[in-house]
Amino acid sequence: MSSTEADCLFCKIVLGDIPSTPVYETGLTYAFRDINAQAEIHVLVVPRQHYEDAAVLASEDPALLAEVMLAGVEVAKQEGIDESGYRMVFNTGPDAGRTVFHAHLHVLGGEQLGLFGRPYRTG
Ligand code: AMP
Ligand code: ZN
Repeated sequence: MSSTEADCLFCKIVLGDIPSTPVYETGLTYAFRDINAQAEIHVLVVPRQHYEDAAVLASEDPALLAEVMLAGVEVAKQEGIDESGYRMVFNTGPDAGRTVFHAHLHVLGGEQLGLFGRPYRTG
């Protein structure tokens, strides 16, 4: 498996071909601000290597998945939301509204967050 995918937005961000606002990085992960923040603090953590989604990452490299999660915890500390609280989310598949096909962890906080689930149902 190649480590990057030519048409992948987040591979391009990792390579610096598309600009991003860096927040935190390790040898195997990179964290940057979400361009369309859904909370006061909204950071994405990605493995530098391309995996299609969190499920593939979990089965192919669980140690790297753990490093992504630990990076999310470090982001929360660095952003000063480790005490106030934060949410870490992987969207996987269409019902979760996943739009970018490179595994990414959302770290959200900095304010009281809304509840999960069923936001689109009116009846
Ligand atoms: P998901 O819906 O879980 O696939 O999340 C994809 C996230 O990537 C969304 O929250 C987008 O706002 C975010 N996003 C898309 N393009 C960029 C970009 N160029 N820089 C930073 N975040 C982005
Ligand atoms: Zn990628």
